[in-house]
Amino acid sequence: MKLYSTLNKDIKANFTEAVINGIPPGGGLYMPAALPKLRGDFYKSHRNSSLPEIALEISTILIGDEIPEAQLKSIIFDNITFDAPLKELEKNKFVLELFHGPTLAFKDFGAKFMAGVLSYFTRNSNRETIVLVATSGDTGSAVANGFLGKEGIKVVLLYPSGKVSKIQEQQLTTIGGNVTALEIDGTFDDCQRLVKEAFADSQLNSTLSLSSANSINIARLIPQSFYYHYAYSKLEDKGLPVVFSVPSGNLGNITAGLFAKEMGLPARKFIAAVNANNIVPEYLRTSVFTSKPSVATLSNAMDVGNPSNFQRIFELFKNDYPAIKSLIYSKSYSDSETLNGIKEVLDLYDYTIDPHGAVGYLAMKDFLNEQHESLVSVILETAHPAKFYDTVISATGKDFDIPGSLTNSLNKKKHSIKMAADFNHLRDFLKKFE
Ligand SMILES: *Cc1c(COP(=O)(O)O)cnc(C)c1O
Repeated sequence: MKLYSTLNKDIKANFTEAVINGIPPGGGLYMPAALPKLRGDFYKSHRNSSLPEIALEISTILIGDEIPEAQLKSIIFDNITFDAPLKELEKNKFVLELFHGPTLAFKDFGAKFMAGVLSYFTRNSNRETIVLVATSGDTGSAVANGFLGKEGIKVVLLYPSGKVSKIQEQQLTTIGGNVTALEIDGTFDDCQRLVKEAFADSQLNSTLSLSSANSINIARLIPQSFYYHYAYSKLEDKGLPVVFSVPSGNLGNITAGLFAKEMGLPARKFIAAVNANNIVPEYLRTSVFTSKPSVATLSNAMDVGNPSNFQRIFELFKNDYPAIKSLIYSKSYSDSETLNGIKEVLDLYDYTIDPHGAVGYLAMKDFLNEQHESLVSVILETAHPAKFYDTVISATGKDFDIPGSLTNSLNKKKHSIKMAADFNHLRDFLKKFE
């Protein structure tokens, strides 16, 4: 796979370099130069295939030139060990459950795959690799679990103090092993900025092997495209256009869907469902991308005021605003609408949805109300409702089961290092790994 920097097309890399560097020298994001088309009978032939089987064919096409087939196969079958089942709410309306991984959120797909790929690429290195991750809640625990115990790798998580849920914080700070949690006195955007500053610091990078496992790392995006193809392979025989609603923050998940479409996924529309952080709907309305400070909401993993992956979307569409507007629909929902959405999904479908999925549901509902043709709709349910237990209960008034893996981490003691949102402190901390 050939990639280039969104800031400078002359800066090129193969997949191996892009995964290890995380971000191109000088900043920007790595962008695939081309996404090859799938064979015409791909979805028909995979009607009965499992997620890893589909993942293997797609990753062979994309990165088979850099990872031998046998190794790629074990990276996938050892790491994509959980399913992404479709649940039918009513005829032609589905939820794609992406929360069956170890930390009960969709980021497990990207994190596990990336951990497998990065361990393979660094297997002969004599320097330790430091994986630096800014997290608004779910990324951190997913990445840390992906890399937990992987030889030659240390994980440093940065999370905004007081801005993640109790459960998320327990998941972030109780992992131990090769994982350290930094509790930053600031917002998620501050955490992201600190990570970007670390990668831009040439002196630090001359002595340390820093890597990013954020959704900005290309190895996080690629596996997130697998489940779009997988879902479509199970829906193709309905003979109707398919629409995906993606609860969105930093836009990694929806970008992976757009990559899937570029490879041949015949999706009619992608819905960027957002909370009060309404950067995408404002862009679609005005044609101008304007970042804003992030606002705290109940769907906190989507509290992003400057979504990095917008740059990849611009590249993919060659900055063609009308083309972006015709493929992407976006709408923003308040916290009170989100709570009503959770209750409505339970009342109408007897399905317990989390606050992120509820935003996806509301946007899908509004989109379908504006349509006049028959469609198959798929809402990506990005987290298990138990991760947002209090919010869900306050919306529905009804109790539901918490998975055992979650109750375990709630009983462990929190370990974090508090830090001001100041790069000098992060630099001093990282220097200890030299
Ligand atoms: C990260 C996250 C999102 C947002 O995904 P992006 O790829 O950042 O757009 C949505 N829901 C949950 C539960 C998440 O953890």
